[in-house]
Amino acid sequence: MKQVFADRIEGLQQSDIRRMSLECTKVDGINLGQGICDQPVEPIIKKAAIKAIQEDRSIYTRLDGIDELRHRIAGKVRDYNKVSCDADGEVIVNVGSTGSFVAASLALVNPGDEVILFSPFYGYHLNILKVCQATLKYITLRPPDWSYDAAALEVAFSKRTKFILVNTPSNPCGKVFTRDELAHIADLCKKHDALCVTDEIYEYILYDGRRHVSPGSLPGMEDRTITISGFSKTYAMTGWRLGYTVAPRPIAQKLAILNDLINVCAPSPLQHGVVAAFDLPESYYTNMRRDYQIKRDMTVAACREAGMTPYPPQGAYYMLADFGDLGFKDDQEAARVILDRSRVAVIPGSSFYPDPEDGRKQIRLCYAKKMPDLEEACRRIRTLRAVLA
Ligand code: GLN
Repeated sequence: MKQVFADRIEGLQQSDIRRMSLECTKVDGINLGQGICDQPVEPIIKKAAIKAIQEDRSIYTRLDGIDELRHRIAGKVRDYNKVSCDADGEVIVNVGSTGSFVAASLALVNPGDEVILFSPFYGYHLNILKVCQATLKYITLRPPDWSYDAAALEVAFSKRTKFILVNTPSNPCGKVFTRDELAHIADLCKKHDALCVTDEIYEYILYDGRRHVSPGSLPGMEDRTITISGFSKTYAMTGWRLGYTVAPRPIAQKLAILNDLINVCAPSPLQHGVVAAFDLPESYYTNMRRDYQIKRDMTVAACREAGMTPYPPQGAYYMLADFGDLGFKDDQEAARVILDRSRVAVIPGSSFYPDPEDGRKQIRLCYAKKMPDLEEACRRIRTLRAVLA
C-alpha cells in the first residue's frame, strides 16, 4: 500500500495531557492534569450567550469575528497589553488560542524555517510547529526561577529564524518574562529581522504582584509581533473555544483568510455571549488572582509535605514539581502510580522537554480546580508517602 500519512504528521501521538484525562475519568479521580479550569462561568456571560441563541444569532459571522467583539478586544489589547491595533483589519477572533497558533504557524512557517522555543514548552505549540515542519531551536529555562542563558539565545537566532515563540505567563513552568528579557528578545528580533509570536492566554493570572508585559508593546515590535490570547483561562470557559489574534495589518489579513479556511468563523452565539466579559469589574480580575495565589500556595505546600520539590510558578496555573526520591522509576511511573493509588491525575514531566530525560523526575500539576476538589487532591498528595509505603 502507498504511504498513507503525510510526512508532516510522522511521530504525532495523543498528548499525555489528553491521555491522563481519559485515565482519570476511568478511576473517577481528581484531574490535576489537563488545564480544564472547571469553575463556573460568570452569569452575565452565560445570560448573553443564551440570549444570542434565543435571538437566533446562529449564522456565520465575518471571518474575523463580529464587530462588537473585535472592537472590545481591540480596546482591551490597547489598555491592558499596551499594543496598538485597529479593530478593523488587525484583530481576528479564532476557535481558541490554539486556533490562533495553528493559523499563525501555517501562515508563517515553511518547512525548514527556524523557530525558537523555550523549554519546557507546551506540547501543542511544539506539535503544531512540527506539523508545519519547522526546524526547532530550544532555549533551556532553568528551575527554580526559569531563567535562561541570554548568550545562548543570541546564538540561537540566525538569518533563518522565522519567529521566536514567547509564552508569558508560560505553560507548564509558570515563568513570567520580565521587561528586560523581552527587550533583549525584541532587540534580537529586530537585528535578525525575525517575528515574535506571543501566546498570552494566562496574561491575567500573575502572582506576588508581578506585572504582565506584552512583547508587542515594546518599541519597534509593533510591526513584527503576533499577539495571541483568548477567553478560555481568564473566564474559565476552556470548552467555548474562543481565542483571538492581534497582528499588523498585512499579516492579520492572511491570518483571517486562514481562519476562514480552517473554521470559517468562531461559534456565532458564543462570540455574542463573550462580549459581556468586557463589562466585568476590575475586582473580577483581582479576585481571580487572589484565588489562584491561594490555590498555588496550597499545592506548593502539599507537594513539599509529600517530599517533592515544587517550583512555585510566577504566573498561569500549572506547577512543575520534582518528585525526587519518592521511589518512582520515572515520570510516567509517577503519574501512573499517583493516579492508581491516590486517584489524582498529573502529567508526566517528560512531555514538556525536547529531551525527555530532562523531565524524567518531574510532574506537572494544574490547580485550576474548585476549592473542595483541590483541597481533597492536596490531602491525597500530602499523604502520598504513606500510601506508597
Ligand atoms: N492548555 C491546557 C493544558 O495545558 C489544555 C490543553 C488541552 O487540553 N489540549 O493542559
